[in-house]
Amino acid sequence: MDRRDFLHVAAFVPVLAAAPPPDWAGLRRQLTGTLVLPGDAGYARARRLYNPAYDAIKPGGVAYCANASDVARCLGFARANGLPVTARSGGHSYAGWSTGTGLVIDVSRMNGVSYAAGRATVGAGAKLIDVYEQLGRHGVSIPAGTCPTVGIGGLTLGGGIGVVSRKYGLTCDTLESVKIVTADGRLLTCDSGHHAGLYWACRGGGGGNFGVAVSFTYRTHATRDVTVFFLHWPWAKARAAVRAWQAWAPYAPDELWSTLHLTRGLGGLDVQIAGVYLGGKAALDRLLTPLTGKIGRTSSRSVRSVSYQKAMMIMAGCVSRTVEQCARTPRTSFSAKSHVAYRPLPAAGVRTLVDGVARRGRHSVLLDALGGAIGRVGPQATAFPHRAALFSVQYYADGMDRRWLRDIHGDLAPHFGDHAYVNYADPDLRSWRGAYYGPNAARLAEVKATYDPDRLFRLPQGV
Ligand SMILES: Cc1cc2nc3c(=O)[nH]c(=O)nc-3n(C[C@H](O)[C@H](O)[C@H](O)COP(=O)(O)OP(=O)(O)OC[C@H]3O[C@@H](n4cnc5c(N)ncnc54)[C@H](O)[C@@H]3O)c2cc1C
Repeated sequence: MDRRDFLHVAAFVPVLAAAPPPDWAGLRRQLTGTLVLPGDAGYARARRLYNPAYDAIKPGGVAYCANASDVARCLGFARANGLPVTARSGGHSYAGWSTGTGLVIDVSRMNGVSYAAGRATVGAGAKLIDVYEQLGRHGVSIPAGTCPTVGIGGLTLGGGIGVVSRKYGLTCDTLESVKIVTADGRLLTCDSGHHAGLYWACRGGGGGNFGVAVSFTYRTHATRDVTVFFLHWPWAKARAAVRAWQAWAPYAPDELWSTLHLTRGLGGLDVQIAGVYLGGKAALDRLLTPLTGKIGRTSSRSVRSVSYQKAMMIMAGCVSRTVEQCARTPRTSFSAKSHVAYRPLPAAGVRTLVDGVARRGRHSVLLDALGGAIGRVGPQATAFPHRAALFSVQYYADGMDRRWLRDIHGDLAPHFGDHAYVNYADPDLRSWRGAYYGPNAARLAEVKATYDPDRLFRLPQGV
């Protein structure tokens, strides 16, 4: 090393050794929104996700961004200080991947919902219940999920399966454009003609990978009265219910969506088939007859025609609550795993499933019908690949003990194969890339390299 090189290196050493701490106060001054830091009154609340299991994670700061410029400033701050950065909308990530030790960019204040001429523009931080309620005032809606407090942001970016998806598609199928702030701080409007690769990736590629979405524009559908139903059988009918449901639900008319729940809870073992029909009671009865005929007599049956809005509240578990109460649904400690089923379960698989649910603990398995409009989109037309699947399978356990989940998931893997839904993020999955994305993994990696070449956005299972 000559003298000049030595001086050059020496000049850097003290700088590296004493990198200044992040100027959080400076960031606070730059934001229109609110930055909450450790020690602030709102910090304990600001760092919470839906699942209390992640309460111990302590971010360096939580920025409630008011607009896209705030988001860009936060990204610049994270880049300049080498801080991990995490986007958060509704905070429902199964794996807790919307918090971290660095800067959390929370978009929940960007939650406006507006409607004009068949299009809804929704801020990325809106909760599903607010989307349903505010679009409902215009007599329109979009297909989205059931949980009232899930964020439209995470839901859309990963796909979005809901009770009218067999008729109207996944949430991402109705997405016409998305505004997203990329790692370099640019605000991009992506649609089929602009940044088409990123637009494609934002329809099923999963949140937290490509940038921070700030708003979405969706094609809406007109709402109408619908019929909701809840049928229960004694546990002795569980196998018959699985056999009959899987041969019926994915092939029903698009207007009929249903879900089969096998539950072991405080009340014992339960078999439930519930759903929403975009039509009247008499027509639904005719469609249910072949199903109930195969399973046998129900132990309870409730079939009600209600407004579309009311149906969304009922399916959200808010049957006798106001929208405001529903939006304050309490947090829940749970853990989960998933499969996506491309084939019906054979007899041995049905036995494994039913016997697995009957094992000790408080848990459930939910089979949600796919097919219909979901299946009429090509597997590579959007980043969501599971277009040919029959149903999704969710394994839920109360609390954070994953032993039952791992057992039943492992026992059923030979039947369901290696497919999973990215919105049911599963930290255990080793071959997650193929499971979540199938044939779309390579194109997603290209989009990532184009829009986030330095990998500012990192997830344990990041594209
Ligand atoms: C009780 C419950 C019910 C559910 N029901 C359904 C259902 O009916 N249908 C269905 O399809 N799914 C459902 N899900 C799964 C849900 O779609 C995912 O958990 C989804 O990712 C949650 O989105 P979020 O914005 O609430 O979560 P968050 O935890 O905020 O985000 C999830 C992921 O997306 C990233 N992200 C969040 N916001 C942005 C943004 N603006 N830009 C970029 N990345 C972002 C986060 O970094 C994180 O990685 C349910 C989940 C729960 C807990």
